[in-house]
Amino acid sequence: MMLTISTTHRPATDLGFLLHKNPGRLHEKTLTFGRALMAFSEAGEERCTFALCVEVDPVALVRGKGRGSDGLLDQYVNDRPYAASSLLSVAMSQCVRTAMGGRSKERQALADTPIPLEATVSAIAARGREGVVGRLFEPLGYAVEETPIPLDETMADLGEGRFIRLRLSAVTRLADLLSHLYVLIPVLDGSKHYYLDQQEVEKLLANGEGWLEDHPERDFIVRRYLRRRQRLVREALARLATEEASEEELAPEKRDSAEEALEKPIRLHDLRLETVTAALAESGAKRVVDLGCGEGKLLRHLLGNRQFTEILGMDTCIRSLERAADRLRLDTLSERQRSRISLAHGALTYRDRRLEGFDAAALVEVIEHLDEERLPAMERVVFRHAKPETVVVTTPNREYNVLFEDMPQDRLRHPDHRFEWTRNEFQAWAERVAAEHGYGVRTAPVGEVDADHGAPSQMAIFERGVA
Ligand code: SAH
Repeated sequence: MMLTISTTHRPATDLGFLLHKNPGRLHEKTLTFGRALMAFSEAGEERCTFALCVEVDPVALVRGKGRGSDGLLDQYVNDRPYAASSLLSVAMSQCVRTAMGGRSKERQALADTPIPLEATVSAIAARGREGVVGRLFEPLGYAVEETPIPLDETMADLGEGRFIRLRLSAVTRLADLLSHLYVLIPVLDGSKHYYLDQQEVEKLLANGEGWLEDHPERDFIVRRYLRRRQRLVREALARLATEEASEEELAPEKRDSAEEALEKPIRLHDLRLETVTAALAESGAKRVVDLGCGEGKLLRHLLGNRQFTEILGMDTCIRSLERAADRLRLDTLSERQRSRISLAHGALTYRDRRLEGFDAAALVEVIEHLDEERLPAMERVVFRHAKPETVVVTTPNREYNVLFEDMPQDRLRHPDHRFEWTRNEFQAWAERVAAEHGYGVRTAPVGEVDADHGAPSQMAIFERGVA
């Protein structure tokens, strides 16, 4: 079985530094069940491809084990040497361990950067379960290509077997690609070739860190990775849930205070919330969803206007939702008020039917908290699937930052901001999204406008079907 990894990031030969492998040499490693050969099939400035071939020795694989339930023949004659499986993951962890951990002695900055990557798996059992490859990889941002492999190329009548050739491409960090493959290849293949114990839970959680807890197929992945061992599955799911919570214990209120301190003298956030509430009211919306509602500051404004009869706040951060419930005093509201508002835990980068059917959606200071390569996922969720009549988006105007006295140059306003856009960048993004999804859009400054640098914040109002 063979895994290849290519990049077109220039100079592409840096892939060798990321994998700690010299592109000019053949590398070999002995494994308990066979051996791994590693080489670069191409190593140019523009494109570089690393190949990991795993040779499985079926005899070594069963050595010292009792007879399997499928009989002796099955132990020696099976697809293990040819199809990607948990054995490939084991080989990866032994051959490219440092790269999986995101470390690179010579190119650490590049290891931390999303770059264009492509992976191919020569054969993996995935047929008969339609759509499963897409369900596993697409939410992580991959373009997926599956090519069925004929059972026998010389006998077309036999048709296709259950194996496919898999090709994935994305702009992502190499360590993320490797972790995704490490976990999801055994999930696709569905069988593990060694005894499963507590260690497997640790490996799953370590390699799933940062993506598994929010993955829409999380439970399916955990069950299959752990081969439905009930006790291990229960433990992994419980720990994923608490890890999610402990991440949020990073106290959103602390993280947010720096940004608030910067913006406070100009009362920017209040102004922003008033502006957004006015835009939503003007749109005529009755049912409004606040995406990334945080501690519910906009929700409070919305509750104060009786035009809004149904209000939903959604956020990925449970801790923030709890604070929102406290701040809005949900437990003391009258029944009538209480029936107007609800809170939901969810991510706006995954399709969610609870978001459908609203008249308007607000994303106040949220997009800059998403990795730029996750923006298209949010765009699909909001503009293609939820598709409310009106969408109001606000985000900082980076040009204005030079006017904040206490702000160091070249910094962003909040440690969790992934980017801050200039007015032109925001305008271009808004126009593209509107055009792609059949919306019209206009942008407006929020806050006092400086002649050179514009306003501190900016807003886009999208209206469906209004060119
Ligand atoms: N809209 C609020 C909070 C802005 S801070 C306000 O204006 O006060 C950004 C918020 O987006 C945080 O609460 C964060 O938890 C949330 N967030 C980040 N990524 C998210 C995602 N993928 N889905 C939903 N919410 C997200």
